[in-house]
Amino acid sequence: MPRICRPVHLKDPAPVPEPEPEPVAGCDVCAALARQRTEAHTTGDKTTAIDCNIEIRHHPHPKREGR
Ligand SMILES: [Zn+2]
Repeated sequence: MPRICRPVHLKDPAPVPEPEPEPVAGCDVCAALARQRTEAHTTGDKTTAIDCNIEIRHHPHPKREGR
């Protein structure tokens, strides 16, 4: 599977071909996107899955909750 060149900043050096962003805890939008992404994976809809990943990455949050 060819890798798609995307202008993303990877934090983890994990050798995964397609790192998926974690939905922000407490964010309904992220949760919905994550659920849609899972559904897309189930149906094999890679385009939608990637789109959800992009939306999760770009979803703005006023305050980032760490741990
Ligand atoms: Zn969010």
